Amino acid sequence: MTLAVHGLAVARGIAIGRAVLIASSRVDVAHYFIEADQVESEIRRLAQARDAVNEEVQRLRDTLPKDAPPELSALLEVHLMLLQDEMLEEGVKSWVQDRLYNAEWALSSQLEVVARQFDEMEDPYLRERKGDLEQVVERLLRELKGHPDLMATSAQTQRRSTRQHDLPLDEQADVPLILVSHDLSPADMLQFKQSVFAGFVTDVGGKTSHTAIVARSLDIPAVVGTRQASQLLRQDDMVIIDGDAGVVIIDPSPIILDEYVFKKRQAEIDRERLSRLRHTPAVTLDGQRIELLANIEMPDDAPAALEVSAVGVGLFRSEFLFMGRDGHLPDEEEQFQAYCRALEGMQGLPVTIRTVDIGADKPLDKGSREGDHLNPALGLRAIRWSLADPAMFLTQLRALLRAAARGQVNILFPMLAHAREIRQTLSLLDHARVQLDNRCLAYGPVKVGAMIEIPAAALSMPLFLRHFDFLSIGTNDLIQYTLAIDRADESVAHLYDPLHPAVLRLIADTIRAGQQAGKSVSVCGEMAGDPQLTRLLLGLGLRSFSMHPTQILAVKQEVLRADVAKLTDWAQRVLEADDPAKLI
Ligand code: PEP
Ligand code: MG
Repeated sequence: MTLAVHGLAVARGIAIGRAVLIASSRVDVAHYFIEADQVESEIRRLAQARDAVNEEVQRLRDTLPKDAPPELSALLEVHLMLLQDEMLEEGVKSWVQDRLYNAEWALSSQLEVVARQFDEMEDPYLRERKGDLEQVVERLLRELKGHPDLMATSAQTQRRSTRQHDLPLDEQADVPLILVSHDLSPADMLQFKQSVFAGFVTDVGGKTSHTAIVARSLDIPAVVGTRQASQLLRQDDMVIIDGDAGVVIIDPSPIILDEYVFKKRQAEIDRERLSRLRHTPAVTLDGQRIELLANIEMPDDAPAALEVSAVGVGLFRSEFLFMGRDGHLPDEEEQFQAYCRALEGMQGLPVTIRTVDIGADKPLDKGSREGDHLNPALGLRAIRWSLADPAMFLTQLRALLRAAARGQVNILFPMLAHAREIRQTLSLLDHARVQLDNRCLAYGPVKVGAMIEIPAAALSMPLFLRHFDFLSIGTNDLIQYTLAIDRADESVAHLYDPLHPAVLRLIADTIRAGQQAGKSVSVCGEMAGDPQLTRLLLGLGLRSFSMHPTQILAVKQEVLRADVAKLTDWAQRVLEADDPAKLI
């Protein structure tokens, strides 16, 4: 039966494929395809892992102290039984044989299948055995990790995943795969940049949550905030993701499938058409040149920015260099190299690097402290986190200043609000220069900018304009903090409104204040990449937009059609309306 689940549209396009359910805790299990001639050795790896775990559990059981509670020995017996379970073993084998999944992936896929069956059991005792099954699979995964498949390379994964997208749907083993998970952290998402997946679905997350932002940068269809998709979907179900409408269709009928295959082709034709604008200068009908910059997460994203003729990087979210490293932060040299790679990648164009913005929905590592507080978005985040650890912050500032000797670096500070914070930040930057002088290390000149993403900052323009060379409006947070809406919480997503009059007023006033002071103001939040808002932002005086490379051509198309002189009065009317959305 066809079922539609509604969520939030975060990354456009349509993907059609088979669901791969992955528990949030098992996202970092290796997922890659093996070659057909590796099936036997992969099954052997599984059998060896099972034998090793079997031996380990037997040893545990046989060496239990005499006074150990009897339940412990019963528990180990259950684990031994589960290790021999035919459904687990046969199921895992068939993922390897039929789908060419690597052993770890096959094991976690089958775990999802069997776990569902446990969930549906009437008998509470049996239902609770799901926990045991999970423990057994964890042991097996640990064992496999100790004996990795040496043939596995990312190139192999990449080759296979690229090939898949071109194949007809009815070639079973090669149907594209859609990752379905209850939740994915931004770092998990980043890990999927080179992955086999053609689309993503999560139960939680808001439209501008960082997971959604990374999904958008991958340029594959994604729907977040579905609340229950991971419960309704089964491993291997056929699924359609409509990333434009925010809908996930489970088990589509042939008619629906045909319709979406058609829509998908249409979307590809539209994209192809847009790509012709690549080398057209972004100039409005009345001759205003508009700066279209790229947002990137990693230095390797630079080619995608150049591909669409971005004139620089307007936001390099440097925190992605810091995440998912078990707390081992990158040292000065590693950061320096990464910033230089971004500069080289941009071939002489300016690169605006934001200092680390950890916290809220961007924890350093899964389950790490920064996300644990009651209100993480209001806690020790972004510049607050940096100022709380001056040694870490100075390391980053030195790396940035050194990179500035290799190209045009602008340093952008996130989430500033107080004069005191501004003073501390800038004096640490001076201190970093002194440290480099003392070490006789070369560094270059930088422009310094502040993100305007807290209403308090937007309402303190003279202070910010006195201290900074440029401003960048972070609308994602500005909306979150103006409307008191957690941007990562799907239950309040309907209240997250970029067109709320208060939000527009803060944006308009910031742009105007920057213009009057002769300083550059850009928008680097998701609003900048929404083509439906381009005309409004132009009308409000914005001349610099920074967005995912994937959005640049669609926004450029709007710029080319716009007559700014005519948009100004209209934008003022929108600004004064109670319900601006009605005028857009
Ligand atoms: C923003 O808040 O708009 C922004 C660009 O920063 P981030 O999304 O990383 O918080
Ligand atoms: Mg922000």
